Amino acid sequence: SWNLSEFGQRLGRGSGIGNLMDDLGHALAAGGDRVCMLGGGQPAHIPQIDAVWRRRIEEISAVPGQLEHALGNYEPPAGNMAFRTALAKLFQRQFGWSIGPENVAVTPGGQTAFFLLFNTMAGRFPDGTTKKILLPIIPEYIGYANQSVAEEMFVAVRPKIERIGQHRFKYRVDFESLEITDDIAAICVSRPTNPSGNVLTDAEIAQLAELASQNGIPLIVDGAYGAPFPGAIFTETTPVWNDNIVLTLSLSKVGLPGTRTGIVIGNEDLIRSVASMTSIVGLANTNMGQAIVTPLIESGELLQLSDEVIKPFYQQKSIEALRIAEEVFDDSLPYRIHQSEGAFFLWLWFEDLPITSAELYERLKARDVLVVPGHHFFFGDVIEGVSTPWKHHEECIRMTFTMPEPKVRQGLSIIADEVRRAHQQG
Ligand code: PLP
Repeated sequence: SWNLSEFGQRLGRGSGIGNLMDDLGHALAAGGDRVCMLGGGQPAHIPQIDAVWRRRIEEISAVPGQLEHALGNYEPPAGNMAFRTALAKLFQRQFGWSIGPENVAVTPGGQTAFFLLFNTMAGRFPDGTTKKILLPIIPEYIGYANQSVAEEMFVAVRPKIERIGQHRFKYRVDFESLEITDDIAAICVSRPTNPSGNVLTDAEIAQLAELASQNGIPLIVDGAYGAPFPGAIFTETTPVWNDNIVLTLSLSKVGLPGTRTGIVIGNEDLIRSVASMTSIVGLANTNMGQAIVTPLIESGELLQLSDEVIKPFYQQKSIEALRIAEEVFDDSLPYRIHQSEGAFFLWLWFEDLPITSAELYERLKARDVLVVPGHHFFFGDVIEGVSTPWKHHEECIRMTFTMPEPKVRQGLSIIADEVRRAHQQG
């Protein structure tokens, strides 16, 4: 076969998570209805929300020219002007931010936004130095891990672990271990965090924003699950933005992952550079997601759906999954679940588990329960933090709680059973 460039070798030859997703897909296909698929980040099909998409497609088709415009035109690389303006007005109204369409760029999904952002901010600089993205807290979203076109791009700091009661815990940013050296290009966090369901507090975000601005580097906040949409965030928090903060959003978790619509909110220079990269890599963006939601943003319907349908749906699923966990795990079994403050997952920690999370994953897969082993979410050059050595990264799994209740119950029962067995037999 051909020799590949560094880019080709890094991006074109698979990845750990790519293999895992493949593995999950095959197991799902082989197992059919028996399988408990608790591994993905797929939003639920909420009937009331799916009905809105159907209605919007009908409305678009009914107005002469609208469908033709959305399907038949290249839009500017930063996105459709009406969509960007509607979003800017929403942020002005909702949060009092002084932003305009010049602060908003559309990308083909949030994932692509991160590829572009990370590779413009970090990597090799013209003077020969290299810079990295700092993850101030891990575990963090696995989708970032393999996005560098050159060498390892992330440095990460272990969290502080706060044990809460007998069976809960919460990660906190370990600010004492967090040092912004010259080779840090930007700070990045997802809020709510995939995989842990953590929501960094307003105080933590304020301190990170302050550190970033003192050091003249951006703070990237990934709001894929957050405010104002889809609003899968169960704690009281205030979204923040300023010239030094880059906020990313997405239409995926609202229920439109198939439209591939990501949103970057940043200062004008950054937005111009995102638009430039989009035009080089892909000419323009996909239009349908923007066409579907623009009137829903203008009328406030999208916010109302987020507050009254989407958020309660996921919060209810989270409460239900936690209740089932309490039922199926023996109280004496060493298990802890991260505070479920947002996103679509329970993050389970089995302290002193005699087997690794990778082995637990295999045993669960053999019983048709598909989860994601936790070690994938601890990546980058990890800065030694509060507790060394550290087994924690091999003691956790992520499970999605968006499935129907019987599947969540079946999955959690088998997880509890396998954890119990591991303790009994090793
Ligand atoms: N950020 C986080 C934390 C995610 O979980 C995801 C998807 O799962 C994304 C970004 C990217 O989503 P999309 O590319 O569909 O917008």
